[in-house]
Amino acid sequence: MTTFPSYWEFAVFEAVLHEKLAQQKLFPWQHLPFKAPNDSDTEQLYRCPACGEIWALSQPDNAWRGYFLPQQKAETYRRKLHRQDFAKGLIGGVCLLALIVFSLWKLLG
Ligand SMILES: [Zn+2]
Repeated sequence: MTTFPSYWEFAVFEAVLHEKLAQQKLFPWQHLPFKAPNDSDTEQLYRCPACGEIWALSQPDNAWRGYFLPQQKAETYRRKLHRQDFAKGLIGGVCLLALIVFSLWKLLG
């Protein structure tokens, strides 16, 4: 599992990636702008000529940490993150509702 906790890790990774591309150990596959339901991350795909595995690269951007994973795992990872976002949103919504109800109860009581 490769994610980029800091910009520095990504810079190091990118240097290695460029070297692999130059040595033809990895080929750019498709440049698909990936559209998930709730974000606009773009993924760059690479193919390993040795085993045929397709790798997905998502570049870090501000709070987004990015990743470099086999395509299948990247999809699982993205879904997991979206579920976490959804859960956070849900908890936030419930707290807000509780606050509103409490405020009304105070106002009316
Ligand atoms: Zn391989």
